[in-house]
Amino acid sequence: MKNHHTSFETYLTDNDGRYTEQKRCIVDEIFKIQDHFEVESFIDSIRQNHHKFSRATVYRTIKQLLDAGLIQKISTRDGKIFYEHNFSKKQHDHLICNSCGKILEIKEDSIDTYLEQFCKELGFHTEYRSLHLYGQCQQCFDQQEKES
Ligand SMILES: [Zn+2]
Ligand SMILES: [Zn+2]
Repeated sequence: MKNHHTSFETYLTDNDGRYTEQKRCIVDEIFKIQDHFEVESFIDSIRQNHHKFSRATVYRTIKQLLDAGLIQKISTRDGKIFYEHNFSKKQHDHLICNSCGKILEIKEDSIDTYLEQFCKELGFHTEYRSLHLYGQCQQCFDQQEKES
């Protein structure tokens, strides 16, 4: 069974990149996170243990992981960007609250089945999926109702 290191290494080799010790370490740290994360807070947390990492290397590694399809990107309406690894996690979609920025996940087999069927009919070969719905979470919606 392939793990994320093998997949990333294959990607880097195909793209004339080297899988350096530093990158390997960054990837290890990213794959430990079981939630959506922002790059800056990730950098703060790894810097507590690995002082030598440059910000540029972290950003470059994240961009390459994204290209390799090993992580996905979620942007909120106020411009925040979150990432999460999707290697062992089941494919899922996101609901993003425009008011508080909360990110909810939907894991629903019938969406997968429907999309697969739809793409098959169109002869479309999906490489990467990112399905985001923007709106208001229950709390923010209720809050707004109360205020109006
Ligand atoms: Zn909200
Ligand atoms: Zn997610």
